[in-house]
Amino acid sequence: MPTTSDRRASRSGAPARPDGLTPSERKLLQLGLRTPQDLIVHLPLRYEDETRIHAVGGLVPGQAAQVDVTVIRSEVQLRPRRQLHAVVEDGTGRIALRWLHFYPNQQKQLQAGAALRVRGEVRRGFDGLEMVHPHIGRQEEPLPSSLTPVYPSTAGLTQGYLRKAIARALDIADLSDTLPEALREQHGLMPFRDAIRLLHNPPPDVSEASLREKGHPAWKRIKFDELLAQQLSLAIAREERMRQHAHQLSVRNGALEQALRSSLPFQLTEAQERVIAEIGADLTRAHPMHRLLQGDVGSGKTIVAAFAATQAIDSGQQVAIMAPTELLATQHFDKLMGWLAPLGISVCWLTGSLTGKKRKEALQAIESGSAQLIVGTQALIQEGLSFARLGLIILDEQHRFGVGQRLQLSRKGEEVATTIIPHQLHMSATPIPRTLAMTFFADLDVSVIDTLPPGRTPVVTKLADNARRDEVIQRVVAEVRQGRQAYWVCPLVQESEALQLQTAEDTFQSLAGLLPDLRIGLIHGRLPTAEKSRVMDAFRSGEYDVLVATTVIEVGVDVPNASLMVVEHAERFGLAQLHQLRGRVGRGSAQSVCVLMYQSPLSLIARQRLRAMYETTDGFEIARRDLDLRGPGEFLGIRQSGTDILRFASLAEDTQLVEKAQEAVGLMRSRYPGHARRHMHRWMKGKQDFLRT
Ligand code: ADP
Ligand code: MG
Repeated sequence: MPTTSDRRASRSGAPARPDGLTPSERKLLQLGLRTPQDLIVHLPLRYEDETRIHAVGGLVPGQAAQVDVTVIRSEVQLRPRRQLHAVVEDGTGRIALRWLHFYPNQQKQLQAGAALRVRGEVRRGFDGLEMVHPHIGRQEEPLPSSLTPVYPSTAGLTQGYLRKAIARALDIADLSDTLPEALREQHGLMPFRDAIRLLHNPPPDVSEASLREKGHPAWKRIKFDELLAQQLSLAIAREERMRQHAHQLSVRNGALEQALRSSLPFQLTEAQERVIAEIGADLTRAHPMHRLLQGDVGSGKTIVAAFAATQAIDSGQQVAIMAPTELLATQHFDKLMGWLAPLGISVCWLTGSLTGKKRKEALQAIESGSAQLIVGTQALIQEGLSFARLGLIILDEQHRFGVGQRLQLSRKGEEVATTIIPHQLHMSATPIPRTLAMTFFADLDVSVIDTLPPGRTPVVTKLADNARRDEVIQRVVAEVRQGRQAYWVCPLVQESEALQLQTAEDTFQSLAGLLPDLRIGLIHGRLPTAEKSRVMDAFRSGEYDVLVATTVIEVGVDVPNASLMVVEHAERFGLAQLHQLRGRVGRGSAQSVCVLMYQSPLSLIARQRLRAMYETTDGFEIARRDLDLRGPGEFLGIRQSGTDILRFASLAEDTQLVEKAQEAVGLMRSRYPGHARRHMHRWMKGKQDFLRT
């Protein structure tokens, strides 16, 4: 507990805590800036040009400007709220200055006639241009000769403090190059020392645009370094994995697998056969598999998982399959039971909602090893759950799991047995574009199902303004008359789950009122698990014609007779989400339609998303556009984890650098291991853990 005197001391900026750090030093630590090495690679977000004095008459809104002016008048205004307001001029024009928070000495500074240097962003104000909370200095101060860096910071840490700390670090840190000269020359890269000094202190002749857009050779060098560090660490992670031990699941084409094959009502596609073989080969090895199975929505990944499972079970091991939602876990359970229980495999279900005696039984079966295949949710990675002999973990819709959960999963494996680690199969319908796969998943081998099972006709996508809701409703009726079923997805209400629920119920009521002859069901996230399953089962068996739903049905739900998907307020959904939703139809042989209703006017990004949905059904193309629209961090759901893996390079724009960095990995590791180690130390401290997922 800080005492009163502590608090007073820290407010005055003096060191007070037992750790002997000043508040600013503590803030530096919060930003992960511990050592001079950390500080020198803390690079500017942008630069301010304080080298020039602008003429007030030439200012335009949005411009960052510095002007030498005289105060004409200043006053404290009380309306619309208390603020300090001043008008200043320089002979070419006038501009207003405003402060919503101010100190008495600022009022003094702004007395009429005072000559000041003012710096800030120009905006369009009530009458004419203005600056809000500008920086005030003295006209006598010499102008800097180079651009002023602005660093990423945090509340309470000033730019001035950061600049000084970084300048000191530049004097004492090791700036020697971690790239061998041959490599630098081959790719035309600047020496590290020059690049880093230039970015912290750009000389006067460097163009601000080349820094801002990161096109300058100094940025190119830094981006290369960053990408190389990442590639190196992935290569190291891979090597470590190759040193770990896993059970060799070497019974291929065993009795169970054969039985499964002959019991299937359909023929596996060539693509499915190929990926089953790829996975099967991995499983026979003595080190853990890390494989990502990519396949568009509806491409038939579940049966591939079932084949992997039979190989593990044939080899005497347990298999865990995890899904991101209970609904999906339930569906997997049903499907896998249908395929595998007849072969004598004992399948067990475990999610958070399983309680009491049943839970105890499930845990016992898992711990004793009598349960061979365990289907569940995140509950499977909970503390305290121990498997008798877990040989394979399958993660479905892996992109829906947070990075943290994936990390926990890989640790779980290590806890289970410190020496033997389960194989991992990740499945995803979000096809990851090549550059991303190369960069983020270099330690995941990738298998791709690139064709859909035969007999599917591509879903036709239609866009409809909300004003045409009646027509859409008639379309639902027409579909049902032909003996088919429809989903009606309610608008997403991101701000509030309660509101979301309300919307779903309202939509259900209104559709039920309008269509009394149809049997309409409702499903949403708040229903108890048993009720969710009941509704889903009823829809699957044709007891409902229409299923009003929230995004709980977004992933994995499989009802082949449903041929119409209506999404209300499609403009509120992300591209990946829309693609998943559309993938719920087109699973049978009937021509399926997806109607995306939208509320105009559309924002630019919403229009681009809807256009992408209209123009293509190819998941890879959708993913590529999604990446363009959102950027890789958000695309991969990394933003929420708070871990920035790439601070400077952009996967969308620096594809060539990505490739060069990847090429360089081999050379660095074989010929220059010392350089490689130093490079990693400079760039990847504290991030290794993240990359293991
Ligand atoms: P996803 O890849 O989206 O997880 P699913 O595994 O749910 O796809 O499969 C979609 C549907 O296709 C399921 O009903 C599944 O039984 C069926 N299916 C899978 N493989 C084939 C195939 N080779 N031929 C016909 N139907 C198949
Ligand atoms: Mg699936």
